[in-house]
Amino acid sequence: RTDEMILEVNNIEVIYNHVILVLKGVSLSVPKGGITALLGGNGAGKTTTLKAISNLLKSERGEVTKGSILYRGKRVQDLMPSDLVKTGVIQVMEGRHCFEHLTVEENLLTGAYTRGSSRGEIDADLNMVYDYFPRLKERRRSQAGYTSGGEQQMVAIGRALMSRPETILLDEPSMGLAPQLVEQIFNIVKSLNEKEGYTFLLAEQNTNVALRFAHYGYILESGRVVMDGPAAALRENPDVKEFYLGMS
Ligand code: ATP
Repeated sequence: RTDEMILEVNNIEVIYNHVILVLKGVSLSVPKGGITALLGGNGAGKTTTLKAISNLLKSERGEVTKGSILYRGKRVQDLMPSDLVKTGVIQVMEGRHCFEHLTVEENLLTGAYTRGSSRGEIDADLNMVYDYFPRLKERRRSQAGYTSGGEQQMVAIGRALMSRPETILLDEPSMGLAPQLVEQIFNIVKSLNEKEGYTFLLAEQNTNVALRFAHYGYILESGRVVMDGPAAALRENPDVKEFYLGMS
């Protein structure tokens, strides 16, 4: 990890349908090679923040009306999502979104389409994904729609890896998964971060698990950052303990 901030969100406002102000000036910095968590309850604005970064708001009639988003110091707000992928940022959407009728392997291969790489390079990346997710190798010929929720989450992350990203925006990876699987997915995220150097920004309602794996956290409430700090400090903070970790 370095202190270089690869992604910077400066005081952004997001409005849906021209009237509903959902983000009211959110700022955050994501260091290269770190795992940064975006925390907060239902409706706090986590997904909106990720979609603002990856420029996916338009289809929901949302718009960044103030502030700036910089990736490697360059404004990325006006890039098409596919161009953003080429600059190295990819979002894994909440709810996983596999192509249900394709096999696991075909789903993974769809992640490589923006790259124009050779078959050899793509095969090497496929093997890297299978090294991290041995379960996907076992299931590679299965139709994705028939795999479990945990496997579909793995497919979604694996497909993102196939685009050779630098920074991965992960929306609610724990959603709908049993605790043991959540642990497994987060352990894989951790080793992808440590061994391959991927930068992660992840949105999570599960504060407990996110603060065990992340290096730094931001807590959102009603479209504002109300607290931020190193994960270890947040875990010990009395307010975080009471309101987000269910201890007091
Ligand atoms: P969740 O855990 O539900 O994903 P979140 O913290 O990610 O929560 P967002 O999905 O960003 O929250 O939603 C923030 C607020 O914006 C909510 O009040 C939600 O109702 C509102 N919102 C989200 N999408 C839209 C939309 N397309 N149009 C209008 N309002 C929206």
